[in-house]
Amino acid sequence: MSNLYLIATPIGNRLDITVRALKTLFSVEILLCEDTHKTKQLLDFYLQSFPDLLTDKTIPQLISFFEHNEEQKLNLVLNFLKQDKNVGLVSNAGTPTISDPGFRLVKICRENKFNVITIPGPSAVIAALSISGLSSDKFLFLGFLPRKTGKQTKIWEEIKNSKLDQTVIFYESPFRIGKTLEHIKVVFGNIEITVARELTKIHEELVTAPISFWEERLQRPLKGELVVLFRSEK
Ligand code: SAM
Repeated sequence: MSNLYLIATPIGNRLDITVRALKTLFSVEILLCEDTHKTKQLLDFYLQSFPDLLTDKTIPQLISFFEHNEEQKLNLVLNFLKQDKNVGLVSNAGTPTISDPGFRLVKICRENKFNVITIPGPSAVIAALSISGLSSDKFLFLGFLPRKTGKQTKIWEEIKNSKLDQTVIFYESPFRIGKTLEHIKVVFGNIEITVARELTKIHEELVTAPISFWEERLQRPLKGELVVLFRSEK
């Protein structure tokens, strides 16, 4: 019986890969990639850096699998599995399906009784939460927020009205964070916001400060990838 492996890859630092992920990357026949070029570079790096860990050194067949072709590729992947070929899925960074493509594939594979196996590893949401100093007893992950002011404000109001004491986390672009913080301030006031930036990379930083600080700081654009967190209090 063939398997679909969801393989987590680094969110920055290429050394953040598990031994099991490495071995699986080189043992599957087919590897579905959000970006085949990026994944090929990563595989070449591992092949050069850790040849002794790899019994199998053949780069699998790389097939493009991203948000806008996921639907068309479902039958192709099911056919590979029916032909007893093991298939891996990677995204550009972190854990596949977490604000990344793959959910529909996992669903249809499970419905067709194929094994879907996790090869866990990095995910920016968990990395940021774990070093934030915010309680992780309860957290709400929103992925990428809707861009329209009305839709976003509705989310903030629902969270505020829920009166749940929880950590709220979302992925945000450096170009939109200013607008998003404006919307949050309207509903929650000048609360403290944590921004985890460039995790596992050279310029990694995590700063917690009131929205008023961020208004000042954002006069100069923030660079890199961000995770934003705050505590929604009663
Ligand atoms: N699947 C990924 C995961 O498991 O974290 C997330 C993919 S999502 C398309 C990419 C977003 O994750 C970025 O826009 C950013 O918000 C966040 N992200 C990814 N890598 C990051 C990093 N090294 N530092 C901070 N945030 C990161």
